[in-house]
Amino acid sequence: MHDARITPRHPDGTLCGHDLTHEAEAQGCPGRADHLLTCACGWTMTARRPARLVGVHRNHSVRARGGAR
Ligand SMILES: [Zn+2]
Ligand SMILES: [Zn+2]
Repeated sequence: MHDARITPRHPDGTLCGHDLTHEAEAQGCPGRADHLLTCACGWTMTARRPARLVGVHRNHSVRARGGAR
């Protein structure tokens, strides 16, 4: 299966686990620079905009299933 998980990253490349809906955590966050997509198969990709990751991952999962030829 190709289930994707998208995780925001800080400018220094560390993963952001902050819950920005909580004020205290949002204040401890240095900001989000880009997003890391990790597929269940081990495939990863980064992009600034999560919407781009969703599109590229869709192509990846189609290709990985051998569907788009
Ligand atoms: Zn995959
Ligand atoms: Zn953060």
